[in-house]
Amino acid sequence: MTATLAAALKRENPDPAGRSWLFVPYDQLTDALGPLGREDPHTLGILLVECPAKAVRRPYHKQKLALVLTNLRHFALEQVRRGVAVRWVVAGGYADAVRDLAREVGPIRMMEAAERELRVELAPLVREGLLQVVPHEGWLTTDADFAAIPRPWRMDAFYRQVRRRTGVLMEGGKPVGGRFSFDGENREPWRGDPPAPALPRYAADDVTAEVVDLVTTRFADHPGTLDPEALPATRDDAETAWAWALRECLPTFGPYEDAMSTRSSNLFHTRVSALLNLHRLLPARVVRDVAALDAPLPSREGFVRQVLGWREFVRHVHRATDGFRTVPSNVLGQDTPLPPVFWGGAPSGMACLDGVVDDVWREAHSHHITRLMVLANVAQLLDVDPRALTDWFWVAYTDAYDWVVEPNVLGMGTFSVGDAMTTKPYVAGSGYVQRMSDYCTGCRFHPKKSCPLTPMYWAYLARHRGVLDGVDRAKRQVLGLDRRAPERQASDARIFEAVRDALAEGERLDPAKLPTG
Ligand SMILES: Cc1cc2nc3c(=O)[nH]c(=O)nc-3n(C[C@H](O)[C@H](O)[C@H](O)COP(=O)(O)OP(=O)(O)OC[C@H]3O[C@@H](n4cnc5c(N)ncnc54)[C@H](O)[C@@H]3O)c2cc1C
Ligand code: SF4
Repeated sequence: MTATLAAALKRENPDPAGRSWLFVPYDQLTDALGPLGREDPHTLGILLVECPAKAVRRPYHKQKLALVLTNLRHFALEQVRRGVAVRWVVAGGYADAVRDLAREVGPIRMMEAAERELRVELAPLVREGLLQVVPHEGWLTTDADFAAIPRPWRMDAFYRQVRRRTGVLMEGGKPVGGRFSFDGENREPWRGDPPAPALPRYAADDVTAEVVDLVTTRFADHPGTLDPEALPATRDDAETAWAWALRECLPTFGPYEDAMSTRSSNLFHTRVSALLNLHRLLPARVVRDVAALDAPLPSREGFVRQVLGWREFVRHVHRATDGFRTVPSNVLGQDTPLPPVFWGGAPSGMACLDGVVDDVWREAHSHHITRLMVLANVAQLLDVDPRALTDWFWVAYTDAYDWVVEPNVLGMGTFSVGDAMTTKPYVAGSGYVQRMSDYCTGCRFHPKKSCPLTPMYWAYLARHRGVLDGVDRAKRQVLGLDRRAPERQASDARIFEAVRDALAEGERLDPAKLPTG
């Protein structure tokens, strides 16, 4: 613990005696849910754990470490000011810290952890009766909602079930606007108009300054740029972030949801995922606000589908598969090591990939389509080991935790769990990037003539035909191979190998040196 927090706790922390204790993990930073939301703050104590061992478990982006730690510290101060007693512990593990306190004060309560890795760590304490787990009240959907949909699990079936059950964007038992999804209308490229909003900035106070100092010195070897003014740290900052999203993004969220641009790393996405996953913003609140917003329905529905639909769906899939331990998790047998370009500093020469990688190491974030159709797409086409790709996303993004990053990468970004949660692999050649972005204009490759992505797409389908032939919607993609001449297919394979081998060496691809079709 550093100076500002220590001094504030010494000065303001109420008497801890006789209180009922709760363990609040790093991603439950709210006093609007569970016992902390309902019970008299003056009767409660909370255990908050700063865990350097978790910070070094993976080489997390510096911005991510700073975001989590500054929010945890600010939450401590906010709770002390509500009259809650705070026990701040710097510990080697969460279980050790909970055990020590439980031995002192008796059993401790907590809302169930969202992350599987934390549930596993704490399970022995639950068995020993030292920790009592109550349901996590941040989720918007129930196990029954998920059980109501058939296997293989599909998000749209889940989403319709949840819309009906919750009544969100429903009128008289029917979806507002006559359809559950306006996805088809949300696919416009962005040409610069309307202008994309600048990202919000936050004043970094003493607590954040100390966290920044700690992260840059203690975790100096972790990757990424730390930008203190891009860190929403306090309860008020979270409100600023949400007001910005409602005002600047939501009205235009829908049409440009799938667009990408070199001129804006974010376009009209809301940037609230990291705050939602820490519970600085509550999912129920953002869904309610957007459902009631005076904005075009395709934008409102698009956002509601992401939070009430996708976010909840992936969490259920993760739970139901015990974090993908009960289903095969590399059905395509992909094993290419993640190439150095993903870690920055070794540009590939592909403007789309290099541009998004730069965004990620600068901002610890990039939006959905750049994750799916650039990063995961290129990795897929290279046959990158899906676990290596997942771990990369986990360290690089401020919003990544096991329950959300694993299904998104293993289940959606790659096809490594087969059709367990998506109908077909999300893979594409250069056409998608060219249509939906301006990356190709600054690229050394020509999207139609020399871009390696299209031949790599065909080579991917050919390599994995054995598996994809057995998947209904993928069959249609694979059938296209039958119209591709054998010599083209042979050159597709050579281009794939040349790109894979060059990127493995950290080389910049040269259009003149790649095999020709
Ligand atoms: C390969 C890959 C990895 C991803 N990893 C993560 C991750 O680690 N953490 C994470 O929160 N999201 C992840 N996503 C989902 C999505 O890309 C991000 O939630 C989104 O880009 C966050 O930016 P935003 O807040 O501006 O989102 P917006 O586009 O404004 O969407 C609003 C909100 O919807 C929710 N949402 C949308 N799609 C998803 C989804 N597929 N899964 C869960 N929530 C969703 C998020 O809470 C998001 O804040 C991943 C997607 C892909 C394709
Ligand atoms: S030409 Fe190909 S590699 Fe270059 S930006 Fe376009 S899609 Fe990406």
